[in-house]
Amino acid sequence: MPEAALSNLSPNLRGSVITPVSGEYEAARKVYNAMIDRRPDVIVRCANVADTRTAVNFARQEGLTVAVRGGGHNGAGLGVCDHGLVIDLSSMKGVRVDPATNTVRAEPGCTQADLNHAAHSFGLAVPVGVVSTTGIAGLTLGGGTGYLTRKYGLALDNLLEADLVLADGSFVTANAKENPDLFWAIRGGGGNFGIVTSFLFRGCPVDQVFAGPMFWEMEHAREVMQWYREISTALPEDLYGFFAFLKVYPAPPFPEELHRRTMCGIIWAYCGPLDKVEEAFRPVRKFRAPRFELTGPMPYTALQSMFDALYPPGMQWYWRGDFLGQIPDEAIDEHLKYGEQLPTLHSTMHFYPVDGAAGRVGRHETAFSYRDAKWSMVMVGVDPDPANAEKITAWTKDYWAAVHPYSLGGAYVNFMMEEGIDRIKATYRDNYDRLVEIKRKYDPDNFFRINQNIRPE
Ligand SMILES: Cc1cc2nc3c(=O)[nH]c(=O)nc-3n(C[C@H](O)[C@H](O)[C@H](O)COP(=O)(O)OP(=O)(O)OC[C@H]3O[C@@H](n4cnc5c(N)ncnc54)[C@H](O)[C@@H]3O)c2cc1C
Repeated sequence: MPEAALSNLSPNLRGSVITPVSGEYEAARKVYNAMIDRRPDVIVRCANVADTRTAVNFARQEGLTVAVRGGGHNGAGLGVCDHGLVIDLSSMKGVRVDPATNTVRAEPGCTQADLNHAAHSFGLAVPVGVVSTTGIAGLTLGGGTGYLTRKYGLALDNLLEADLVLADGSFVTANAKENPDLFWAIRGGGGNFGIVTSFLFRGCPVDQVFAGPMFWEMEHAREVMQWYREISTALPEDLYGFFAFLKVYPAPPFPEELHRRTMCGIIWAYCGPLDKVEEAFRPVRKFRAPRFELTGPMPYTALQSMFDALYPPGMQWYWRGDFLGQIPDEAIDEHLKYGEQLPTLHSTMHFYPVDGAAGRVGRHETAFSYRDAKWSMVMVGVDPDPANAEKITAWTKDYWAAVHPYSLGGAYVNFMMEEGIDRIKATYRDNYDRLVEIKRKYDPDNFFRINQNIRPE
């Protein structure tokens, strides 16, 4: 990176320029997944929209590869690049709630916790994911599934408007009326089209919820899975439960005799009126009693952060996923085999429901194609020790290969590693061609290509 060019950059920023000689460089280049070890030439930590435009123009003029970082949680590490320039938005954390319109405007460095901390104060929540340290930017632009999906849809279904800096440095707003093609594409098409500097969300009326896990022994796992596949989409949409294979964490509140034991579980979240909890759970109570249960009333923000401590940043992380329309018995056979073999304490497999409100949106209404899916499946090998990287990767790949034939064929774009163009096409199905057209219009040179890339050619 020529010194002269860099010295012209800094005076034009309110934020900072971080290079390999800066004291903060090692921390600034790290992302959530410690398996990712990339060394950009320069990181521009933006303070505002003007900085973002300056960084885009600088990178274009210098011919630099660009990665865009929001929360840095992307499994494939797509918020950082080797060489090139990282446009780091993590300091842009402004949130403004408008209680008159029940909307929430948020900057792209917000985590889910930042967003819903602000919304909760007004009795509102924006539907996002299940770990509160995840960035809202990458999550929303890819989809955003979580506890409120059945009742209120994906994060992107609640996106009303976004401001973007495009590859040529221009600034646009995208909503149903302005640049509607761009608005369609960013709801599922990821960071391919520009840098979002502001998200406007619909706030949903969610305050106190009734939630928590139930665990069963593995000897009952087949029965639990068979029951779950029937009940999870038949329950009222106020009640959401994601299925998991897990190892019980060796700490309170889990009883000592269960510590480190492989079990299966369902993590429930009920967001309806609290005086109707018992009624909502009645079908659940008819099933085999769980070996362990820790459900109760809590603020939605507490539910959001329930798993944060179990999954701190800095662990090795390898995942694969697929959308599912059904879970046949043959697939359950494979799930039981690999579920029994969870390679480490933190490794897990989840089925996240994506039916209900998310399923009622048409598959061509946004770029997110799998509106016919019932679950988004992810298997993830996780461990703090880099020595186990190969082990967790092999388990994940083998597990995925064994159950992929029973899937709908494509995966949630935010549960993918760098798996090649065919997998990206499988994510978007017949929305892919329209995404290519829109990419050609807004980013013909593929300036934004460190992502699950939709190539303009
Ligand atoms: C522990 C954990 C739990 C998760 N749970 C869920 C879950 O419950 N539900 C769910 O849906 N997903 C979940 N995810 C997946 C998550 O959606 C993705 O990892 C997502 O990429 C995270 O967004 P980020 O902003 O943190 O990513 P980053 O790594 O910062 O960025 C990822 C990509 O997003 C793009 N991007 C980031 N910011 C912008 C921007 N402002 N404008 C344009 N493009 C941008 C970039 O192209 C980049 O390639 C989880 C991930 C983790 C690690």
